[in-house]
Amino acid sequence: MSSSVVRRVLIVGGGIAGTSLALRLQRIGIQTEIVEKQAAWGATGTGITLMGPALRALERLGLLEQCLAEGVGFTEMTLFTVDGTLLDRVKLHQLLGPERPAVAGMLRPTLHRILSEAALDAGVEVRAGTSLTALRQDADGVDVDLTDGSSASYDLVVGADGWRSQVRRLLLGAQEPQARFLGQAVWRAVLDRPATVTGEFQFYGPGIKVGVTPLGPDRMYMFLVEPDASPTPPDPSRRPARMRELLSGFGGVIADVRDQITEPEQVDARPLYSLLMPAPWYRGRGILIGDAAHATTPQLAMGGAIALEDSLVLSELLASGSDLDTSLNTFMRRRFDRCRLVVDNSVQLSEWEKNASEHGEDAARLQNESFAALAADI
Ligand SMILES: Cc1cc2nc3c(=O)[nH]c(=O)nc-3n(C[C@H](O)[C@H](O)[C@H](O)COP(=O)(O)OP(=O)(O)OC[C@H]3O[C@@H](n4cnc5c(N)ncnc54)[C@H](O)[C@@H]3O)c2cc1C
Repeated sequence: MSSSVVRRVLIVGGGIAGTSLALRLQRIGIQTEIVEKQAAWGATGTGITLMGPALRALERLGLLEQCLAEGVGFTEMTLFTVDGTLLDRVKLHQLLGPERPAVAGMLRPTLHRILSEAALDAGVEVRAGTSLTALRQDADGVDVDLTDGSSASYDLVVGADGWRSQVRRLLLGAQEPQARFLGQAVWRAVLDRPATVTGEFQFYGPGIKVGVTPLGPDRMYMFLVEPDASPTPPDPSRRPARMRELLSGFGGVIADVRDQITEPEQVDARPLYSLLMPAPWYRGRGILIGDAAHATTPQLAMGGAIALEDSLVLSELLASGSDLDTSLNTFMRRRFDRCRLVVDNSVQLSEWEKNASEHGEDAARLQNESFAALAADI
């Protein structure tokens, strides 16, 4: 590459990965633009569980206090049998020390608002309702054509456009790896939170796991992992009844709140896909981060954490002033094994979940090993 200095970056996709990267790059003086295909830039979906590594990354972005103030931090997970009998209380590891919670739950739109306001404050330019139509590159730069009819040149294009990444397709063409359907779906709904739900509660049924996570003083989200799911979720109008049906065997707090699920827009049903792009995640001056490179299922609740970590590591390397090829190479060395661990172990946990009665101990061990490995700094 003839010019190693990165002065101007285009990020495709304004989700967790793209927005956090834009914020960091703009703050260190690299002019950064985001194109986001949604006409209204924001996050849909219900809640998100932010594990220790995600909280650590948010602290480095200077956003942890705001996230904890607008979400709910907790340090305990309580496990129940399907009928609501207490099995165990597990104290979660407080990665950031005893003053900080181990985990936080928050609404996805709230997390997005916090990230996007910080990015806009830093001076990031965002074009919503815009995507790419073409990408061409040579040793000196990348030229892109956008759906708004404009064209522009950049030193680097970052594909942060999620698991169905268009940038991945443009960079790899026929060699693009395909995401794998795991045969499960996750159903989620935001519900009123009973005062008894003080941390994450998980309930284990035959092949079905259900949990609730606090989001705010009086709100929580419920998730349900459905085995033998179809890759096509039912029509939205049928989702509340189907989710209540899947929950019908569960007791305890699940039985208490189940009837709150009545409206189609309350229910998010998502088939689970997994994808790990083989290294390297870059071609010349185009690189993939977040789910575009490593789309993981929620068994470890670490997809958001590793997306944020990608942004921290990539921005640190681009700020170092090293040759671009060296920076991208170093990025791969620092990110690949860690992201592979999350994707592979989540797939393994998904397999075991489908036969929960045979693999309960294996799953607990693999979860603990994964959390211990991811506690190591990036
Ligand atoms: C059911 C489920 C539950 C999960 N729960 C958790 C959890 O509790 N905790 C956790 O940490 N992780 C969780 N994850 C994983 C987490 O949601 C993802 O890892 C994370 O959202 C990845 O962020 P991202 O920015 O890489 O991608 P995305 O969030 O997918 O964002 C991509 C962005 O790019 C935009 N875009 C797409 N295509 C284009 C295009 N062509 N042009 C321009 N813009 C485009 C999209 O509109 C979007 O805004 C879960 C995942 C699933 C499936």
